[in-house]
Amino acid sequence: MKRLRRMTTLLGVCLVAGIVVGGCTPAASVGGSGSLRGGGSVAAEGSAAGSLSQASGPHDAIDAGAIAALDTLLATPMQAAQRAWDSSQEARLRSQLGIVEDYRDEFVHGEKGSEHQRYIVLHDTESLGSASSIVEFWDNNNRGIAAHFVIAQDGSVVQCVPLDKIAHHVGFGDTGHNEFFGTTDESRDDKVGTTPIGSWARDYGMNSYSVGIELVHVGGQGGYPEAQLEALDRLIALIDAHYGFESEIIDHKAWRSGNSDTSPEFAVYLKNYQSSRTHDGVGE
Ligand SMILES: [Zn+2]
Repeated sequence: MKRLRRMTTLLGVCLVAGIVVGGCTPAASVGGSGSLRGGGSVAAEGSAAGSLSQASGPHDAIDAGAIAALDTLLATPMQAAQRAWDSSQEARLRSQLGIVEDYRDEFVHGEKGSEHQRYIVLHDTESLGSASSIVEFWDNNNRGIAAHFVIAQDGSVVQCVPLDKIAHHVGFGDTGHNEFFGTTDESRDDKVGTTPIGSWARDYGMNSYSVGIELVHVGGQGGYPEAQLEALDRLIALIDAHYGFESEIIDHKAWRSGNSDTSPEFAVYLKNYQSSRTHDGVGE
């Protein structure tokens, strides 16, 4: 019971959308994440297309059109093969992780298809317990707040929100962060269970563009066990396989400065995840 009460208190720090802000460790936002959103590669593609059209005359344009059509024909089977591979990869990783699916309707707050998926947001629970006990706590709390996945310290994983649904796991962020992260509050998220937390954090949009993962961990009370980190490696690979592209990885305090999660002990891992998608910096 003592542990349960502690969990009840501390879970507020991470997930209750900034209602309990006083207990959080102030932290700078991840300013560098703006460079990770792929804007550079989009610009590069745009300029390449521009130079091609400038070089083309009328006949070249016809040839280019024919080539484009051929490319489309040739690409279609490859894309289908890619999707099939991604799907089998997702199934393989789901099996390896032994994910327990425990979906609950009250945790679903809208639709989030792949066209809206951009971020994987990592959290600390700031409490200890099994993954299923965390999900039970969220349900009993009756506020509709949950992340898609919980990873326990032994590496076991529970999923309580489907990947293509919106979960409430990041709440309101710093005013200006919608623009910074390229997210918008377009009302796909029903917002049930969340309230604004002040003028400094008015932006609401990240839930609609992200998948949330909670790591069972308390800041300042030890490191992240290897089994938990290896499970996170695989879970990120699973999410990448599901969507067919790599989402940008951030932590909760990047969205709302002042949050405690992820904790300072995770800093080196977070850098590794952002560059190699594994905790030890070794790409797969
Ligand atoms: Zn959090």
